[in-house]
Amino acid sequence: MSQFDVTIIGSGPGGYVSAIRCAQLGFKTAIIEKYSTLGGTCLNVGCIPSKALLASSHHYEELQHFADHGIEVSGDVKVNLEKMIARKQAVVDQTSGGVKFLMDKNNITVFNGVGSFESATSVKVTKEDGSSEIIESKNIIIATGSKPSSLPFIKLDKDRIITSTEALKLKEVPKHLVIIGGGVIGIELGQVYLRLGAQVSVVEFMDRIIPGMDAALSKELTKVLKKQGMKFYTSHKVQSVERAGDVVTVKAENAKGEIITLEGDYSLVSVGRRPYTDGLNAEKAGVKVTDRGQIEVNDHLQTSASNVYAIGDVVRGAMLAHKAEEEGVMVAEILAGQKPHIDYNLIPGVVYTWPEVAAVGKTEEQLKADGVAYKAGSFPFKALGRARAGGDTDGFVKILADAKTDEVLGVHMIGARCADLIAEAVTAMEFRASAEDISRMSHAHPTFAEAIKEAALAATDNRALHV
Ligand SMILES: Cc1cc2nc3c(=O)[nH]c(=O)nc-3n(C[C@H](O)[C@H](O)[C@H](O)COP(=O)(O)OP(=O)(O)OC[C@H]3O[C@@H](n4cnc5c(N)ncnc54)[C@H](O)[C@@H]3O)c2cc1C
Repeated sequence: MSQFDVTIIGSGPGGYVSAIRCAQLGFKTAIIEKYSTLGGTCLNVGCIPSKALLASSHHYEELQHFADHGIEVSGDVKVNLEKMIARKQAVVDQTSGGVKFLMDKNNITVFNGVGSFESATSVKVTKEDGSSEIIESKNIIIATGSKPSSLPFIKLDKDRIITSTEALKLKEVPKHLVIIGGGVIGIELGQVYLRLGAQVSVVEFMDRIIPGMDAALSKELTKVLKKQGMKFYTSHKVQSVERAGDVVTVKAENAKGEIITLEGDYSLVSVGRRPYTDGLNAEKAGVKVTDRGQIEVNDHLQTSASNVYAIGDVVRGAMLAHKAEEEGVMVAEILAGQKPHIDYNLIPGVVYTWPEVAAVGKTEEQLKADGVAYKAGSFPFKALGRARAGGDTDGFVKILADAKTDEVLGVHMIGARCADLIAEAVTAMEFRASAEDISRMSHAHPTFAEAIKEAALAATDNRALHV
């Protein structure tokens, strides 16, 4: 029987990062993964493959604007989807291999198989061939992640009525892709296929897409995507999704109670994800699971069994890879007797469309609901030299600051490279910067980051320089 200080169930970004930190802190560490590849949802069917396809399809779209830059491309430009998907898979395989390398480098023992609790200190690993072994461990971290969820009346056939997992490996560009759910995953994958030539319709129950983000970002993203040809049916409640042959029919009820019908050849169901605990036998360890299927944890990510912790998508909070990573590090450090802390308000959220959308802190809607007096400053990318030079003029940066103290409370941006620009806002807010602090820092010219300085100037006392 193998014995460890810490055993982690699940090798996603939460699990494998936690394993590395545990090993760094001197713990004898094991990680259990049911699939043959490491890296979880993020590396295999999430962040990395979706960004690979977004990058490939973006290149194709950009090519169509080369003429504006005086570049003439002669001959046919065609998409080879099979090759594009194969490249995506090569990126995934290489990245997953990188995780295996990191496990070996840090002397972390990897077990392939399904982990299920026998008690709070022992886990059975059942391998694909049916054989099993028992691992004894002083501490156990549950990092089993999440799976796509659906609506009770939708029968996912994973062929034409699909989830994000199948959308990452389609064999043809859909003629008409009907997306159910206008959240981050649906919109990102929608833009991939829109760029490749599909007609894309998005049906969303709420009155706007990316509903968790600041309303101004939803509005701008909708405007840009509409310009690119995406169709939106917001405030529409999906009633049925049926397949007959190669045709998928989606019926939805609008705000007036009328039923609209959309016919496509594929329907992507992206209505969220559910925490995954199937086969874990959490109850055998005395670990409580909430009604929503999440593992219940306290502020220290400790479950109802004192030596068992849980992190990432399987616990409350944003379902994001970097949130899972922070939690993985935090638990390792708690086990080592340290006192780590995560400010959940400062976990950034990003949509990797182009223009990219990124945000951190409070939205205007939240500040209004909380009755916080705030001031807002915005700066449009079209007023920025760098944006005009590159031809990426859509979007803006908006900074929300406390009306009295000037402390930055939220930063919301949409535009080129915002996924990376948001890091400046996170740093500033971690150090509790005021809008004036940001406005007085030198930002290299010409850069997209100048929009942050200008928005800070606008928030300080409405004195942006270039508008
Ligand atoms: C299409 C898509 C795009 C995304 N893009 C982004 C993005 O750009 N940025 C971002 O931050 N997030 C993104 N996400 C979300 C991100 O993938 C998740 O938040 C992240 O993977 C959660 O990490 P985790 O470690 O909690 O779980 P997971 O990554 O889900 O990993 C859990 C692992 O546990 C394994 N497992 C489960 N049960 C057992 C068991 N009993 N025994 C052994 N192994 C088990 C699973 O097989 C899996 O490998 C995306 C998700 C999707 C679907």
